[in-house]
Amino acid sequence: MAASFSIHPSVDNGIQAGADNFTGGTLVCKCAQDPVRVQIDAQSAFNHVCGCTKCWKPKGALFSMIAVVPRDKLRVTEHAEKLAVVDPKAAIQRHACSQCGVHMYGRIENTAHPLYGFDFIHTELSPEKGWSAPQFAAFVSSIIESGTDPAIMGEVRGRLEGLGLEPYDCLSPPLMDAIATHTAKASGALKS
Ligand SMILES: [Zn+2]
Ligand SMILES: [Zn+2]
Repeated sequence: MAASFSIHPSVDNGIQAGADNFTGGTLVCKCAQDPVRVQIDAQSAFNHVCGCTKCWKPKGALFSMIAVVPRDKLRVTEHAEKLAVVDPKAAIQRHACSQCGVHMYGRIENTAHPLYGFDFIHTELSPEKGWSAPQFAAFVSSIIESGTDPAIMGEVRGRLEGLGLEPYDCLSPPLMDAIATHTAKASGALKS
């Protein structure tokens, strides 16, 4: 049965598996001329769809699709001058193309942040095939904050489950555990 909504164009027709030997590619913004290019020299990790209001979403999609790569594996190779930080006060600083609006990467500058060292990227911006496949859905309830009718949430969660994207209303349990472990070691509640 076709759903009356789009989760994300990269998953609406089924999920493409990643390639084991994949080593990266180039993210390109949506500008027809002089696009920003970002070279990634690594396979992505923790790819997922995200319902939060901060991640960039393609037009018409309820979710963004977002993954992480080590920050030293990412470099802007063309038209860095078009990039601007969307919200300098946010924990994740999203560097967006000031012309087309696409977020090219998100970076954490606070070295004490549990996810410091990872940059956030949208693998759909790359023409290369083989990026790690999305594994789960994060911040599902947050799509209501963007104006989604709460009455269709059961249908949205059912669609995510049908795609094999377990819906969570925060991050996935392994990521929440990693963040809590980092916090507990920082506070001394856990000995490292
Ligand atoms: Zn652009
Ligand atoms: Zn998000």
